[in-house]
Amino acid sequence: MSLVIDCHGHYTTSPEPHNLWRQQQKAAFKEGQPAPAYPSISDGEIRESLEKNQIRLLRERGADITIFSPRASAMEPHVGDESVSIAWARANNDLIKRCVDLYPEIFAPVCMLPQSPAADMAGSIAELERCVDMGFIGCNLNPDPGGGHFKHPPLTDRFWYPFYEKMVELDVPAMIHVSGSCNPGLHATGAYYIAADTIAFMQLIEGDLFADFPSLRFIIPHGGGAVPYHWGRYRGLADMLKKPALTGHLMNNVYFDTCVYHQPGINLLADVIENKNILFGSEMVGAVRGIDPETGFYFDDTKRYIDALDISDAERSAIFEGNARRVFPRLDAELKARGL
Ligand SMILES: [Zn+2]
Repeated sequence: MSLVIDCHGHYTTSPEPHNLWRQQQKAAFKEGQPAPAYPSISDGEIRESLEKNQIRLLRERGADITIFSPRASAMEPHVGDESVSIAWARANNDLIKRCVDLYPEIFAPVCMLPQSPAADMAGSIAELERCVDMGFIGCNLNPDPGGGHFKHPPLTDRFWYPFYEKMVELDVPAMIHVSGSCNPGLHATGAYYIAADTIAFMQLIEGDLFADFPSLRFIIPHGGGAVPYHWGRYRGLADMLKKPALTGHLMNNVYFDTCVYHQPGINLLADVIENKNILFGSEMVGAVRGIDPETGFYFDDTKRYIDALDISDAERSAIFEGNARRVFPRLDAELKARGL
């Protein structure tokens, strides 16, 4: 029996005082005032927010561990300036650390970064170091801190290189993850997320990032956006652009999760993408919270779809556990220390 490691969970149920403080912080910035002091939140409030939601569902669905990060849609790097982002990232990451301290066997921490439209990556490097010192095993990297206008340089640009150097030094991967949309034409979780996933992959095809950083690792969430469905298009474009085959050009460094909310989509993912590149994920409690009337099960109960795949036990074990342990070596070390 393998462990079941969900590589994609957010603290979408954070206690109300935390969310209220964010509103106060934004209002204070608008008025040119300092933000009020961060509220005190009890362990009981944190426990209640998790036990009724993520932990209950994890147990019901049969997962063991969730790689847990702050609520993605609330990262909002486009709000305020870098100092606002730094304070917000620290508050969120500290809260994730408290979740992990309360439930060390269930949650493994991943941090958000204090990105901001006009900022370089120095603040994000400092926050990544602070978090890894606290036991964090990875980060969420936003390719579009402007919130839906894609004005940042591509992920292959040297703008990002100092951050990648730090990731490699600390041996932590990044999930490529945008936040809330401030573009009225882009619905956040239905359009912006999936578009950004697809855009990120194409940026990587056009560049040669992993020639410069052979050990850098990215997870492209939400099943890789449109990429697996259009795999022929991307293989063909790589060929036209005189790039190596995707197997060597990207697929030693890029991983997709299983946040695809129906069986045929997962079947396609597992059929098209080598299973060494697939990490189990559900993104619960997240973007799509309802029950599928066609199946009677929650859309985001993705373990059910992996269980139903026509693959070997070894492949299933890799998707549930082995691949996550390769991509997150700090998690692997932690699990080994626990005898797992
Ligand atoms: Zn997410």
